[in-house]
Amino acid sequence: MAILLGSIADDYTGASDLANTLTKNGLRTVQTVGIPDPSLALPEVDAVVVSLKIRSVPASDAVAAAASAERWLRQRGAGHVLYKICSTFDSTDAGNIGPVTEALSDVAGGGIVLVTPAFPETGRTVYLGHLFVGGQPLNESPLKDHPLNPMHDANLVRVLTRQLCNAVGLIDLTTIAAGPGAVKMRLDSFRTAGVTAVIADAIFERDLETLGEVALETPVSTGASGLGLGLARALVRSGRISSGGATTADAIRPVGGLSAIVAGSCSKATLRQLDVAERSIPVLRLDPERLLAGPDEIAAAISWAGDRIFAGPVVVAASAAPETVSRLQSLYGREASGHAIETATSIIAAELVERGVRRLVVAGGETSGAAVDRLAIPAFLIGPEIAPGVPVLRTVGNAQGDMLLALKSGNFGGEDFFTAALAMMH
Ligand code: ADP
Repeated sequence: MAILLGSIADDYTGASDLANTLTKNGLRTVQTVGIPDPSLALPEVDAVVVSLKIRSVPASDAVAAAASAERWLRQRGAGHVLYKICSTFDSTDAGNIGPVTEALSDVAGGGIVLVTPAFPETGRTVYLGHLFVGGQPLNESPLKDHPLNPMHDANLVRVLTRQLCNAVGLIDLTTIAAGPGAVKMRLDSFRTAGVTAVIADAIFERDLETLGEVALETPVSTGASGLGLGLARALVRSGRISSGGATTADAIRPVGGLSAIVAGSCSKATLRQLDVAERSIPVLRLDPERLLAGPDEIAAAISWAGDRIFAGPVVVAASAAPETVSRLQSLYGREASGHAIETATSIIAAELVERGVRRLVVAGGETSGAAVDRLAIPAFLIGPEIAPGVPVLRTVGNAQGDMLLALKSGNFGGEDFFTAALAMMH
C-alpha cells in the first residue's frame, strides 16, 4: 500500500480532527494510534495520520518520536509529511513546534517548511504573521491562561524564532492572494537567504488551497487541519487520488454487539448532552470521590452496567459540574484527580468491551485517549461525521474484532449527540 500524504499529529484528538478533515476533502484516511506494529495490515488509503502524544513532552523526546513516525510514513510511500499541530499553536518558548519542524525537514534532506495554524472553519486565521482566535489576537484569547502552554505572543514569526536556530520568514496575504507562482517565488528568495521555516498568512480556505498546492512540492509542512484541507484539495485537483473519495460507507458497515457511552468530559456541552441522553438511556453518575478512594466504585459501575447492557445502551459518566470538579481538584490536585478518573473510565470502557460492547462512544479528549490506549486499538478508518469535527471511527486490526467508536472532545456536538452517534453505529 503506497500512501500519498502522511501526517504526524502531536495529540490524539488533533489527529482525529485532521483525519476527519482529510476524509471530508476526498482522501481515504486511516488514523493510527502511535507507530503501528509492522504486522498491522492497513486498508488501501490515500493518507495516514500517525497520532502521537508529544505536544507537551521535552523537545528531544518529541523530535525522536516524530522522526520515527516520519521514517515509517516515508517507507510507505508518503511524498509529503504534515506535522499536525494545534490551531492555537500551543507551545512554550522551549516548545516542540520549531525543533520537530526542523528535524523532520533535516531528515527529508533539508529545505524550507511552510508553517501555518490557520483553520478558518474554527475561527483561526493568520494575518501578517499574527494568529487570531475568533475576533481576538492569540495573546488576548483564553489561550493566554492555558494551564500547560499559556500563549502570550500572537506574532508567530517571533514565537517560532524563539524555538529555532535559523531565521523565520513571513509569506503575507498579498503574496498568497497572487497565487501559487508568487508564493513559490517568495519561498525561493527566503531559501537563498538561508531561511528554513516561514509562517504563512491565511484567512480564507482559498489561501489554504494555494498553500497546500505549494507545500505538496516540498517534503514537509507544519500546520493544523486547515493546511490539511489545502493539501487534500491540492491532491484531489492533481488527479492522483484513485479512491474518488468514496470512503465513509465502508467505514460504517455494521459490527453488531452491544453499545455503551462513557463520559469523562466536564464541559458544558457534555453535561447538557448527558441530561438529554438520560431521557431515553439509563445513566450511571459515578461518585468521583469514591472513584479516587479505591476500586469499589469501578466494580459497582461494571456490575450496574453488566445487568442492563443486554437490554440496550447505557451511559456511565464521571462528568460533574465545575463546582464539584474544583472541590475535588482542591482536595486531590488537578492532575492526580484527572488522571485517576481517566484511568477509572478507561477500565470501565475496557470491561464493557470485554462483556460484548462493540459500539462505544467516549466523551472527553483525555478520557478518549486513555480509553483507546487501554483498549490497545492500533488504528481507525475514518467514517462519516456525527457532528462537525466528530466522525464515526472503525477500528483497524483490533484484537476484539471490528468496533465502531465516536470520540468526542469537550464542547463538540449538539445536545442530542449521544443518541445521534448511536443511531449511526450499528
Ligand atoms: P474535555 O475534552 O471536555 O476537556 P477531557 O477528558 O480531556 O475532557 O478532560 C476532562 C478531565 O476531567 C479528565 O482528566 C477527567 O478524568 C476529569 N474528570 C472527569 N470527571 C471529573 C470529576 N467529577 N471531577 C474532577 N475531574 C473529573
